[in-house]
Amino acid sequence: MRFATLTRQPDDPLLRIIGQHAADPRARKIDLGVGVFRDEEGRTPVMTAVKAAETRLLSEQSSKSYLGPEGDTGFVRALAKLVVGDAVASDRVVGLQTPGGTGALRLAAELMARAGVARIWIGSPSWANHAPLFRQAGVEPAMIPCFDLGTQTFDLDGFLTGLNAADSGDAVLLHGCCHNPIGIDPNAAGWSVIASHIAERGLLPVVDLAYQGLGDGFDEDAAGARTILSTVPEALLAYSCDKNFGLYRERTGALFAITPDRDSGATVFSNLLGLARANWSMPPDHGAAIVRIILEDEALTAQWRDELETMRRRLESLRAALAAGGRIGAIDLGAVAHGKGMFATLPLSPAQVEWLRDRHAIYMAGSGRINIAGFNLAAIATFHDALRDMVA
Ligand code: PLP
Repeated sequence: MRFATLTRQPDDPLLRIIGQHAADPRARKIDLGVGVFRDEEGRTPVMTAVKAAETRLLSEQSSKSYLGPEGDTGFVRALAKLVVGDAVASDRVVGLQTPGGTGALRLAAELMARAGVARIWIGSPSWANHAPLFRQAGVEPAMIPCFDLGTQTFDLDGFLTGLNAADSGDAVLLHGCCHNPIGIDPNAAGWSVIASHIAERGLLPVVDLAYQGLGDGFDEDAAGARTILSTVPEALLAYSCDKNFGLYRERTGALFAITPDRDSGATVFSNLLGLARANWSMPPDHGAAIVRIILEDEALTAQWRDELETMRRRLESLRAALAAGGRIGAIDLGAVAHGKGMFATLPLSPAQVEWLRDRHAIYMAGSGRINIAGFNLAAIATFHDALRDMVA
């Protein structure tokens, strides 16, 4: 009876919140919990460029035969050009398709474990899946508290000081843009300082780029990652297309490794293929094929970039409207304007989060993380009123 040795694991708190929101009969309920983009009507639509590519795929695809553990190589090639650009010579970059950004991170973690990386340093708080994902792959997460929720700022000095405890050969995780859950990224000067610090200490950067195009703009959002990649001899970049192409359940992502030279790239790639094979054998095809069709077609690329820019602008204007609430009690909403992307974390206690849910049907993670795309202008006014009621 092996299963008797297992202990019951707690439910995912965010899934519980989603369930509670769905069951809440109040008409004015607001869902700021789940991390997907929403339009003004609260929908998460399929992008028009994605629909067009999907239609083309359905009519043109002649086989569903296996591709291989590397996935769709046209997708990987097109994405590398788009993301890495000319920050690194192409013979130093290898990559393969993965099931979403999560698959890319998992593969990165397993490669690191195989290469003898014992520890990964992560600015805290971070995406809730980071620490367990690395731990389960045998790379111990070490957290560095480095955000001030009151002022909504990233403490660069605190982060670098935390990294002083790292051993050469340890890894460090960096959110490429639109930090989840805080929404605050380093500025350009900060990225340069981080890159030099990492290079000097012989650390391996792992850049997690899951929201490109939803922050300051498409190329702007890759600038930090490119600064890192162009400064160090070795790096990993986990990429997700699930937010910026709206592909979520299609599980579309890629892992890129920056290597010192072509020869070590071939070795790294052979390891990645073997690890992928032992994990999922081959990644699911549909989402990557859609992205490839879009990226190989100028008109579809322009259409997708246009739609992405509309999404980005919506987030930007919602953030500004939220920040316009100013100071409410001890909460300075104005500081939320420092951030970008889908998320912000407000300095709310778990009791306040619960109070907002019970009294005003406003649902968010217990940490105070909100998905800004869950708002529309009316909901922001409701939210401001609810906070005023809370501090009255
Ligand atoms: N990295 C971060 C920071 C994320 O927020 C997410 C998803 O929420 C991911 C990676 C994983 O994305 P995917 O859905 O493509 O696995």
